[in-house]
Amino acid sequence: MLYKRPIGTQDIIPDTVGEWRYVEEAFRSLADRYGYGEVRTPIFEDTDLFLRSVGKETDLGSKEMYTFEDRGQRSLTLRAEGTAPAVRAYLENHLDKTDKERVVKLCYLAPIFRYDRPQAGRYRQHHQCGIEAIGSSDPALDAEVVSFAWNFYAAMGLTGIKVLLNSVGCPVCAPGYVLKLQETMKTSLDTLCEDCQRRYTENPLRMLDCKVCREPMQAAPRLVNELCEECDGHLDQVRRVLDALDVPFEMDYNIVRGLDYYTKTAFEFQIQGIGAQSALGGGGRYDKLVEKCGGHPTPGVGLGMGIERILLARQNAGLSAAPTARHGVFVVALGDAAWLESLKLVQELRLAGVRADADYRRRSMKAQLRFADNESFAQAVILGENEIASGILGLKNLENGEQVEVPRAELLERLTP
Ligand code: AMP
Repeated sequence: MLYKRPIGTQDIIPDTVGEWRYVEEAFRSLADRYGYGEVRTPIFEDTDLFLRSVGKETDLGSKEMYTFEDRGQRSLTLRAEGTAPAVRAYLENHLDKTDKERVVKLCYLAPIFRYDRPQAGRYRQHHQCGIEAIGSSDPALDAEVVSFAWNFYAAMGLTGIKVLLNSVGCPVCAPGYVLKLQETMKTSLDTLCEDCQRRYTENPLRMLDCKVCREPMQAAPRLVNELCEECDGHLDQVRRVLDALDVPFEMDYNIVRGLDYYTKTAFEFQIQGIGAQSALGGGGRYDKLVEKCGGHPTPGVGLGMGIERILLARQNAGLSAAPTARHGVFVVALGDAAWLESLKLVQELRLAGVRADADYRRRSMKAQLRFADNESFAQAVILGENEIASGILGLKNLENGEQVEVPRAELLERLTP
């Protein structure tokens, strides 16, 4: 073998694609019921879009992006996260102008690229399905987004999921908190990991969710105690609606999310047993992002869920999509004259909407029938010289072995649905 796929990527092959489709279709169906319309954005964007939105000082912005220069010396970056491209598309396609009163609800299913150390559940190319609700600061929308994920994970058969909720404040209250945090941690800076010593000046909030510094960070003040009146009231309302929607959640004051653009609500979904990371999905409110991307100040809230981690969690729970039921027709050709006829019949069936196939190796009838059975065809048509001459075909039910004679002209209507 001359080539292998790049480290941290996966091939999805016919054996595994069933689970992917199951998750994707369930996501599209739920998004549809909640009123989220699908957007498909390019796989690469202007590097600056990600730098401005996620922030240069975040791990993502500083060292995880797949950035390259194209032949026209433009700096481009493979999709590093889902929200900024959705917001860019929202602005570029004037979705904000069509109806000022309307909340624009978008969803996406997309590959995401991050240069990180690969391990179980962490890849350099992973896939996320996500939703974004742009245009309202109503806390009910934050709760809708959280409950969407909760209901989606339930539809995926997953249990034991923790919903962790927090508020990261807003430009009114967060800066005061950050000063207080720095003040508190100043004397114990040398007990923090190297990354947090850097974060202390560059991105202090991120010290809160560092897995290494849990112990020293216990001394940190709680942002939730420093929220301004508006953020405090917003959080109360989100909690109230989540209670009403029966979404069980815990407050976790260390959930700050990695990216710069979050304001107010931040949340994460966790489950055990999917590798070193337990995050299944997460998101939050981003009231400053649209403005940062050049639009009018417009609030928004969204969520991203990793598909690979859903698949891992389903695998751990012993869940798998039901195998597709037997369906379609295999055309068994016997002899040279029947061979071309069988190919014509297969095409006719396929164009009429029926799964159909023929033998390309001119094997014996027994071998062809065994193959058709293994490939889960429901029926087989037997086509030999006699059948061509008489126009009467043999139609065999591959489940119970029964065979009947059918005029060729009636074949389509006699097939099992
Ligand atoms: P984030 O965009 O970092 O908020 O990630 C949202 C979700 O995507 C996470 O909760 C994970 O489920 C998933 N995810 C993030 N990074 C990776 C990765 N490198 N490999 C696999 N899944 C990931």
